[in-house]
Amino acid sequence: MKIETIAIHAGNTVNCLTGEVIQPISLSTTFERDAEGNYPDGYMYTRSDNPNRRSLEKVLAALEHGADACAFSSGNAAGSAVFQALEPGSHVIAPDDMYHGLRNALLQVFKGVLSVDFVDTTSLDAIEKAIKPTTKLIWLESPSNPLLKISDIAAVCSLAKKHAIKVACDNTFATPIFQCPLALGADIVMHSTTKYLGGHSDVLGGALICKTADEF
Ligand SMILES: *Cc1c(COP(=O)(O)O)cnc(C)c1O
Repeated sequence: MKIETIAIHAGNTVNCLTGEVIQPISLSTTFERDAEGNYPDGYMYTRSDNPNRRSLEKVLAALEHGADACAFSSGNAAGSAVFQALEPGSHVIAPDDMYHGLRNALLQVFKGVLSVDFVDTTSLDAIEKAIKPTTKLIWLESPSNPLLKISDIAAVCSLAKKHAIKVACDNTFATPIFQCPLALGADIVMHSTTKYLGGHSDVLGGALICKTADEF
């Protein structure tokens, strides 16, 4: 399917009872059990999963060619979830031009938990020099906000693979229309869906899309 078709149709389910082509907004916080006490439709409680969020996750996973996706209440929440998944004491290599909210999260919220080096990720050499035995994550943002710096995602990913380091890429400014970091070797793509994906400055959101459905 062409990307335009994926963008319109992926993740959307037609209600077989009514035939409505666009899903209604699902307001229910909890979902019905069957006679055995199970949840036959897979939904239990809306914080864990919800039909509308699931649709968004499916379309984002399809657009980024990922195994699955997880939607968040903001881009900052999505990025912070990646940082939270790291063992305390892990070292992170992050761009010297990084979205300020996520840079502040690393410097303030994760202070004393993670160690971080901010390097010029447009230089493979600078990244290689910053790698330590405890380095678990290379965070990329390309093009970066605000300086629009471009990193060589494929080259960084092959360097990272040699050292068994995961790569996450903030793809907010590129969008999956212009760049798919998972196809270039990244493990995780992050989006602030508040920006181009939302497109109308009227919704705050974020997402992570993973190459494989593994334990990060
Ligand atoms: C806006 C932005 C974020 C943060 O997203 P929020 O939805 O505002 O939390 C992260 N990265 C980039 C590149 C952004 O432009």
